[in-house]
Amino acid sequence: MGSTGSVGTQALQIIEEQTDYFQVEVLTAFENSKLLIEQAIRYKPNVVVIGNDNYYQEVFDALDPQNIQVYAGEKAIEQVVEMDTIDMVLMAIVGFNALKPLLAAIENKKPIALANKESLVVAGQIISERALQAGTQIIPVDSEHSAIFQSLMGELNNPISKIVLTASGGPFLNYSFNELKNVSVKQALNHPNWKMGNKVSIDSATMMNKGFEAIAAKWLFDLKPHQIEMIIHQQSIVHSFVYFADATVKATLSQPDMRIPIQFALTYPNRLENSLEQLDLLKIAKLEFAEIDTKKFTNLALAFEAMKAGGNTPCVLNASNELAVQAFLSGRIGFVEISKVVEQSLSKMSLIQKPSLDELFQTDFETRKKAEEIINKLSK
Ligand code: MG
Repeated sequence: MGSTGSVGTQALQIIEEQTDYFQVEVLTAFENSKLLIEQAIRYKPNVVVIGNDNYYQEVFDALDPQNIQVYAGEKAIEQVVEMDTIDMVLMAIVGFNALKPLLAAIENKKPIALANKESLVVAGQIISERALQAGTQIIPVDSEHSAIFQSLMGELNNPISKIVLTASGGPFLNYSFNELKNVSVKQALNHPNWKMGNKVSIDSATMMNKGFEAIAAKWLFDLKPHQIEMIIHQQSIVHSFVYFADATVKATLSQPDMRIPIQFALTYPNRLENSLEQLDLLKIAKLEFAEIDTKKFTNLALAFEAMKAGGNTPCVLNASNELAVQAFLSGRIGFVEISKVVEQSLSKMSLIQKPSLDELFQTDFETRKKAEEIINKLSK
């Protein structure tokens, strides 16, 4: 799901290399109809879904002659996971839109390789409760979570003291706060280590991405906020650490290439040989770590506050951030104003301690309205 995005396209490269192991059954995209058609012709799924139904006719005309069934609309993206012929769902839709199809996959007991973190940020409690209830396995795709997941394999209920998420620091790690005020969209999209989509690239540059990863880790690994730490590791070689209560630390290392954790999530618990580059330790020679400056990257502090406050607060964090990132990408606000929008949105919303799914959608809706007002004021 979300096959035309960064994780989606990289997953298809993996699938192409492992043809004995994988068969693409369904591809979904929101509106990149051209690429969806190309992918469908190449990977021959039985079904494709285009989320934005304005593109239905175009996709239908291209794929019906190939005997591929074409559906359209966001509802169809949710419904398609019910198909008996699906063994596993790769959830690579970006943003809050992933939540409904993710819950549908959980309900249908399809093992899920989860690349989307916004859904966990917003509705982590509901997702983990429902997955537990249905007995649906969620295997994280994000490199840091994959690393923790892999470090925890075979550890059963062994006590964890804490986890440390590594952060490359993004393109602006060494910028002063004043320099951050003038960065362009192009600079912000230019991540030094990782090839990612626009939304995640901006979130990485503002460090909100790391804040989201912290909140997602809380739910994925059942941790308390004080057990989650972060450290700058510009090389992106160590993808995270798990500190156990007996003073042992486990880490998972690899080249910074998303195809590695994507493949593992898809083949778990197996490991398949591939052509991806192995780590050359002598070439790396040393691993470097540094403290994170949460004063400069205010989003991180906001994310941790939201995690501690809990309830619908992370939902406000996510919705206001989504809008602020869009506003930055379209040139309406500056880079440092992204966190201003988030901060002001957080201060304007009221806390619901244990929100239902409906209340989360309501919070999301209201936050977007408020954030839009804030953006309008800031962009004048
Ligand atoms: Mg990551």
